[in-house]
Amino acid sequence: MRPPRPGLAWSRARAARRAEYAAWMSSAGWWQARRRWRDTWIARFGAEPTCAVCGAPWTLRHGDLHHRSYDRLGHERFDDLTPTCRRCHRTVHLILESQPAWRRLGRAQATDLIVAQLSRSSAAARSPKQDSADGDGDGPGQP
Ligand SMILES: [Zn+2]
Ligand SMILES: [Zn+2]
Repeated sequence: MRPPRPGLAWSRARAARRAEYAAWMSSAGWWQARRRWRDTWIARFGAEPTCAVCGAPWTLRHGDLHHRSYDRLGHERFDDLTPTCRRCHRTVHLILESQPAWRRLGRAQATDLIVAQLSRSSAAARSPKQDSADGDGDGPGQP
């Protein structure tokens, strides 16, 4: 992966967007937007939100909202946001930002595919297996 070269126009634009994003994320307005988003979710689905990847309960205090799109930063639509726990959110970003192919797809579509992929592997990891090796089962065998 090539590191971005400083001074390019796009990286300045990106820095400006990041600053704008950081300001919004720490604003009271974003907190209200999260509340409204959660209310909409509950109205639609009749249940509290859960992490789109691992299914962990999502709460206003501990949940993250991943942006499928930054186009409406500051006045996001319901569908612009995907609920994730903090851990899965980090994973989504790691994948999204590590591979240029995802960026070419567009952020919303890339997000959906990454979330779908991760949630499949997460569900597979959760499904009950006849797993005799509990705990640190992958350690070296005793001589
Ligand atoms: Zn999660
Ligand atoms: Zn995100």
